[in-house]
Parts: sequence; structure tokens; C-alpha cells
Amino acid sequence: MWLRMKGKPLIFRNRLSFSIACSIFRWSCFVCLMLCDPVLFGQDTTVRLSSAAAASKVASVPSVSTSADVTTASRWPYVERIGQFQVHSTVPIAKLEKHLLYLSTLPTELANTLAISIAEQPIHLVVLESRESLDNYVKRLLPDAISRRALYIRHRGPGLVLTYFNAAWVTDARHECTHALLDASRVKVPQWLDEGLAEYFETASTNPLKHATHGAAVQSQVRYGQVADIQQLENTDSNTTLTAKDYRDAWSITAFALNSSDQTRAIFQKYLQDLQNERAAGLLSHRLQPALHSWREDFTQFFRR
Ligand SMILES: [Zn+2]
Repeated sequence: MWLRMKGKPLIFRNRLSFSIACSIFRWSCFVCLMLCDPVLFGQDTTVRLSSAAAASKVASVPSVSTSADVTTASRWPYVERIGQFQVHSTVPIAKLEKHLLYLSTLPTELANTLAISIAEQPIHLVVLESRESLDNYVKRLLPDAISRRALYIRHRGPGLVLTYFNAAWVTDARHECTHALLDASRVKVPQWLDEGLAEYFETASTNPLKHATHGAAVQSQVRYGQVADIQQLENTDSNTTLTAKDYRDAWSITAFALNSSDQTRAIFQKYLQDLQNERAAGLLSHRLQPALHSWREDFTQFFRR
């Protein structure tokens, strides 16, 4: 049994009869939450709601099960299949359509950019109409969870991504679905790189270096002689709460590795392939060294372009 969650440990009280240690990765933004305990969701992998929750004001919002028979039931107002994403929504699909186009390409983007195979298993994507609805929905599953913009939940089966519709919905969805797809594809990346990849692919742009916040911030940092410390991130314990700077650094390292040169990209892809195939992968920083003059110099030069 394990649970990983951005932030402080969550304690599940008597009702769930166990405690789960978790870490919240980022205080203000997404949560990436992975569950694999049959006690929590039931042996049949169904997301189970308490009777108290059933009586709550969100009782009218259907639950999503990872069981195919339940998820195909049309208890949700809107259900749509987009590629391998099974969308369950309280928001009309018409409002989501143009955004879903940017999400539907994500598996191919991951496969092509990272040169790894992406599992074709379905990812269930819930879209609720407001942050309050999402908070209430999450609390039915995780009573002690704090408010989030979006979550990824994994159980023994298809991943489950929970979101609410907002101006940055596609970014939220792509971020969490990147986690879901990598996880489903058994690419066991370290926590910091999992976030680096999710941050990198959350941007639905033909220029992945144009991240809404990280791009300009990293360029500003390098002008002041600051470069991301890849070894510090590699030494970060998997239960450590990542800071906003860690997320920015993880994004910049991912962007650098994939775009600095053909050689760094090939090394990075091989590193991910080794992780996916459960081969000894070592440290990314060590593997990149032969392709670099120096980390500081090459990193700085890349982001000064
Ligand atoms: Zn994340």
C-alpha cells in the first residue's frame, strides 16, 4: 500500500482504518496522487463513497469507477471518448471540444518526443464545473485532502484524472494526464523528473520552451548566473515536498535535455527507455556529461538563445 501526494502526510482516520503517508508536491497548484490500495477503493477497483458523502450536497455528481462496466454507464451528464481518454463531465462537451483536441494529441507527443512506448489503456478524465465541485468530489474520496486544481489517481487499472473547468483547464489536464500516461506506461521516473515532464508537456504549444511562467523565469535566472541544480534534484528524497523552484528547475532540465542538442536528446530518451525497461539507468546528470562542455555553461547558453 502506498500513496504519494503533493504535500504533507495525510492521515486517513478510523473510517478507512489505515494511515497513508503521502507528500504534497506543490502547495499551490496540482496534486499528483497515486493510490494502489484495494482497501481504499475496494477489491473490485471501484471508487467507493461513504454513506455520509452520499448524503452530501455533491451526491448528484456520479462517481467514476476504474471498472469499465461502470464507467460506460451514462450516469454522467456528458460522456465522450477522445482517443484513449474517457471523459466524464458535468460540463457540456461542446465547451470542452476545442480543448480536448489539445489533449488528444498528448500520447503521440509523449511517444514521439520521448521515444518510449505509451500504453494504450484508457485514462478516465473527470471534468467538473467548478473548483468547489472538485473539492467536494475529492473529499468524498480523500476526506483530509486539501483543495487542488487537479489530481491524478492511480489504482490497479486505468488512471483517473480529476479536474474542473477553468481558463487553464487544458494545461491542468495535460499535466495530470502526462503523469497518468507515464505511469500507465511503466516509465518509473524519479519524482522530480515526473514533474519536469508533466510541466514540459502541459503546454499545448508547438514551442515547448514557451511555458507560460517557467520560460521567462528561467531566462531571467540565467541572466543572473543562476542555473538549475540537477544533482540537487537527483538527491531529493521521493517524499520531499518539491518547491515552486524545484518545479521550475525540473521543467528547465527537461527542456534543456530535450532541446539542447541531438546528443542530449538521444541520451535523455535512452535514459527514459532504460527506466521503462527496468534497466539500471543511473543518474541523468552523469549520463549527460559526455554531451556537455559543462553543465553551467551549456545550460546558460541554451536558455540565452
Ligand atoms: Zn504534477
